[in-house]
Amino acid sequence: MQAELTLKDIYLARQRIATLAERTPLLRSESLSRRWGCEVWLKLDNLQPTGAFKLRGSVNALSGLESEQRERGVVTMSTGNFGRALAYAGQHLGIPVKVCISHLVPDNKVEALRLAGADVVIHGATQDDADTQARRLQHENGLAYISPFDDPLVIAGQGTCGLEIMEQQPEIDTVFAGLSGGGLIAGIGLAVKTINPQAQVIGVSMNEGAAMLESLSAGHPVQVGEVASLADSLGGGIGLDNTWSFAMTQRYMDRGYRVDEAQIARAMLHLFNQEKLIVEGAAAVGIAAVEQHQIDLRGRRVALVISGQNVSPKTFAQACRLAGENDHAYL
Ligand SMILES: *Cc1c(COP(=O)(O)O)cnc(C)c1O
Repeated sequence: MQAELTLKDIYLARQRIATLAERTPLLRSESLSRRWGCEVWLKLDNLQPTGAFKLRGSVNALSGLESEQRERGVVTMSTGNFGRALAYAGQHLGIPVKVCISHLVPDNKVEALRLAGADVVIHGATQDDADTQARRLQHENGLAYISPFDDPLVIAGQGTCGLEIMEQQPEIDTVFAGLSGGGLIAGIGLAVKTINPQAQVIGVSMNEGAAMLESLSAGHPVQVGEVASLADSLGGGIGLDNTWSFAMTQRYMDRGYRVDEAQIARAMLHLFNQEKLIVEGAAAVGIAAVEQHQIDLRGRRVALVISGQNVSPKTFAQACRLAGENDHAYL
């Protein structure tokens, strides 16, 4: 394996994923442009067939397997969106996919995994427990282990989202995306900053359990506690033996912010009210960060990655309650 990913890997990924993953629209947001005094576009990766951007990296990772490995199959650990995307890709490419998840994963996501064709293994109370189980199955059954974020093919696949943004609006100078294991921000950062080194790439996590932000502060990967959040797709550690996504996030992400639950709820409600988009919490954290931290974006050209829409009615209702009846939409 080469030592470093380049834009070329992202172009190669785009060719490999083209038949299964969508080139998603970049839609101007009138309400946020007016509110923040800048130009804002929404990159609608919630419109991928599995409801989240993770299909990009999943298809690229499976396409890169040798034929012998394709027959034995793959295993992963996932809060839901990666597992679902990998299962979907596996079904279309004829590759068996096992998904290990923790008991924290919401029911709607477990159901979606099974419907997508995954062999679901529920193990332990944390993602780290689920990951231990995935590694065990890797060794016992000779499966290829595919990390949802710490894998060069996955990162290159996610990078196609950033490549599309820069092609769709070349003058974009600021990109916000949710930050968990860092595969998305690493891939987008590589694409966006190779094309425009002046662009700002900003990652956003929830207040508690922000594993990548904690690791960046410490200067090395650290373990964090897991706490339930409206942005459940951003939970989980980055792996103490992280080899790709930590270093690339360090290199390509300009700033990281944390947001609290009430702000995530308000941002979700804003997208519903003003854009008629139903999204999961992880997809709304960019908006929440600008609001909570009063980030000055005047004059900038901003892309917000709307990373997924896999939210249950129960969780969406919870966000509505938290946002409050009179305070739900920004004007
Ligand atoms: C996985 C995920 C993220 C974060 O991606 P990482 O590569 O883990 O940083 C953001 N939003 C959604 C909807 C996700 O599923």
